[in-house]
Amino acid sequence: MKYAILGDIHSNLEALRAVLDDAGRQGVTHYASTGDLVGYNADPKACLQMVRSLDCKVVQGNHDYYAGYNESVELFTPLARKSIYWTRKQLSPFDRKYLRQLPLILDVESFTIVHSSLSNPQRWSYIFRKRAADASFRNQFNPVCFFGHTHVPLAFVKDKTIEKGLYETLHIRPGRQYLINVGSVGQPRDRNPKSIYAIYDLDEQTITLRRVEYEMKETQRKIRSAGLPFRNALRLASGR
Ligand code: ZN
Repeated sequence: MKYAILGDIHSNLEALRAVLDDAGRQGVTHYASTGDLVGYNADPKACLQMVRSLDCKVVQGNHDYYAGYNESVELFTPLARKSIYWTRKQLSPFDRKYLRQLPLILDVESFTIVHSSLSNPQRWSYIFRKRAADASFRNQFNPVCFFGHTHVPLAFVKDKTIEKGLYETLHIRPGRQYLINVGSVGQPRDRNPKSIYAIYDLDEQTITLRRVEYEMKETQRKIRSAGLPFRNALRLASGR
């Protein structure tokens, strides 16, 4: 059984389509998402429809939460804030209810998914360092947990100590725990503009990072014509 793990799609329909095409060619049959389906880019509604049609297991990201509820978005950067206001207007009551009812943490098969961290997930903290990874590991009961939020693919492995590193293919070994960031489908920030996702092969116990080209120019054009901040379009090209 092969799962595609989709992180931070952020309303980028062209990237999502390219990733799903690639996943299909790789023999993926199941889907899970570490959240932030919406925000920043111009296709929130179509992305939500596509994710729902996949029977994808999804957890709630901070953009999903604030697009679903009418709460103050003071804590966001001005760019993200503007995108949230715009996104709220695009979505139907049904879409917004869907975003509100998403869980913060979900166990799927033998692994766990979360947007930010298993330690106080509703505080939306970022895991870049071993210390933050350690706090999450204390609340992790499955061997593998996938997360997103930073938009940077990164692996933490806990044996007696915690190791941190980049990965292309990881072999899951018994007795260890893995906390894996799957990067971002819709707004990569590791200076590589290609869309990113991961495939978890549960039979082989391997996790493979995939990088996929997509029609970025079309995504940028839509951002411009929607009147969303143009910086949202520029950052796609620089992968930041
Ligand atoms: Zn995000």
